Amino acid sequence: MKIAVIGGGAAGFFSAITAKETFPNAEVTIYEKSAKFLSKVKVSGGGRCNVTNACYDNKELSTFYPRGANFLRKAFEQFNTLSTIEWFKKRGVELEALSDNCIFPKSNSSQTIIDCFEFEARKLGVRCIIQTPIISIVPDEYSNFKLITNGDSISVDRVIYTIGGQPKITTLEWLTHLKHLIVAPVPSLFTFNMPNESIRELMGIVNESTSVRIEKSKWIADGPLLITHWGMSGPAILKLSAFAARELAEKEYQFAVLINWLDQMKEEELRQILQENKVIHSEKKISNYNPFGLKSRLWIFLISKSGCIETTRWKDLQGKLLNRLVNNLINDRYSVEGKTTFKEEFVTAGGVDLSLVDVKNMQSKVISGLYFAGEVLNIDGVTGGFNFQAAWTTAYIAGKNVGINKAE
Ligand SMILES: Cc1cc2nc3c(=O)[nH]c(=O)nc-3n(C[C@H](O)[C@H](O)[C@H](O)COP(=O)(O)OP(=O)(O)OC[C@H]3O[C@@H](n4cnc5c(N)ncnc54)[C@H](O)[C@@H]3O)c2cc1C
Repeated sequence: MKIAVIGGGAAGFFSAITAKETFPNAEVTIYEKSAKFLSKVKVSGGGRCNVTNACYDNKELSTFYPRGANFLRKAFEQFNTLSTIEWFKKRGVELEALSDNCIFPKSNSSQTIIDCFEFEARKLGVRCIIQTPIISIVPDEYSNFKLITNGDSISVDRVIYTIGGQPKITTLEWLTHLKHLIVAPVPSLFTFNMPNESIRELMGIVNESTSVRIEKSKWIADGPLLITHWGMSGPAILKLSAFAARELAEKEYQFAVLINWLDQMKEEELRQILQENKVIHSEKKISNYNPFGLKSRLWIFLISKSGCIETTRWKDLQGKLLNRLVNNLINDRYSVEGKTTFKEEFVTAGGVDLSLVDVKNMQSKVISGLYFAGEVLNIDGVTGGFNFQAAWTTAYIAGKNVGINKAE
C-alpha cells in the first residue's frame, strides 16, 4: 500500500511516523513543497518550540480552541497532552512545563524536536521528498489517488493531507470541486493597533489582571495586557483576537475595546472602595496614593484622563470627576484601527470544514481514503502549545487509521 503524506510539517511528520509504525508494510512518503522540512517547528516558540500545554483535562483543554473545540474534545480521547509527553519521552525527548503551563523540550531548542522526527522517519524508512508541491489530488475510478505535481502525476492508495494553514482559499479549491466544504480563512492571534490613542506612551507596561471586551459584541477575555508602542498586546489581547477572529475580520479591524484595568471588579464595589479612600485618605493627593496596585504610570495616566490634576486630593473626588474615574478604571474605551501579527506567531482560522471529517479516524466523509491533519483543518488554538497539540492529536489519529480498509 502506498501512503502519501502531503506536507512535511508538524502534522506531516507525526502522521507519517505513526502510519509507518502502525502499518510497517506500507510505503509511506512525505511530499514537501519547499526545500526544507519542519520550518515552522524550527522557528516556533521563539526557537524553543512550545510543544504542548500542561492542561491534562480533555474538556478544559478543548476550551483553548476558538474553532474545533467539540471536535477536538472527542479526538483528545485518543491522543491528548499526556500522550504527547509520553510519545516524546519514549523517543528520548524530555519535556518540561514552565509556570505558565507551556511545555518545551528540556534542551530549550526546537532542533531537538526536528532531530527526533527526522531520526524516527529515517529509522522506520519513511521516504521524505522535498521541492514537490502537490497542486491537486484526483481520486480515480479504483478508489486510488493521483497526486498532481509540477507537470507530473503520482499514483497512491491513501493520502494524509497536512499542508498547514492556508491564507488563500484558492489553495483548497480542488477540494470544493470534490464536494468538500471549506471555511474561508482569516488570521488569528494578532495584536491591536491604536495609532490615535495616547496610551501608547506607556509602552512596556503590563497590567496583570485585565478584562478586555470588544464593544457591541459578546467577546471578552481576561489576562495580562501589555501596552506597546503600536497599541495593545499580551495574553488577554491575543486570546480576544483568536476568539473574535472572524468578527474582527468582518469589521476590517476597525472596532473599540472596553478595558477593565481591575480584572472583573464591578462598579458597586469600585465606588465603595473609592468612597472609603475619600474618607481615610481625604488629604492625600490622588496622584500619590493608588489603592489598586496599578503600575504608577498607568494610575497617573488614568486619573489624568479622568480630569484629576497633580494637586487633586481624595476629598475632591466627586461628581463628574468620580464618575469619569470609575468609568476609566473599569470601562475604559480605546479605538482599534488595524492589527499587527504577534511575533509572526499567527495561525489561520478556517480551512477544511470539520462536519465532513470523521473524528474517529480523520478520514473525509466524502472521499474515502483521504485523511486530514493539522492546521489545514478548521481548527486553531490560542498561544501556549495548543496549536501543536491539535496537530499531534489529529496526525496521530490519521496515521493510526490510514491503512485500515476503506469505508464502502
Ligand atoms: C512563527 C510561529 C511560531 C509558532 N510557535 C508555536 C508554538 O510554539 N506552539 C504551538 O503550539 N504553535 C505554534 N505555532 C503554530 C504551529 O506552528 C502550527 O499550528 C503548526 O505548525 C501546524 O502544523 P501543520 O503541520 O498543520 O502545518 P505546517 O507546520 O505549516 O506544515 C505544513 C507543511 O506543508 C507544506 N506544504 C504546503 N502546501 C503544500 C503542497 N501543496 N504540497 C506539499 N507540501 C505543502 C508546507 O511547506 C509546510 O512545510 C507557531 C506558528 C508560527 C507561524
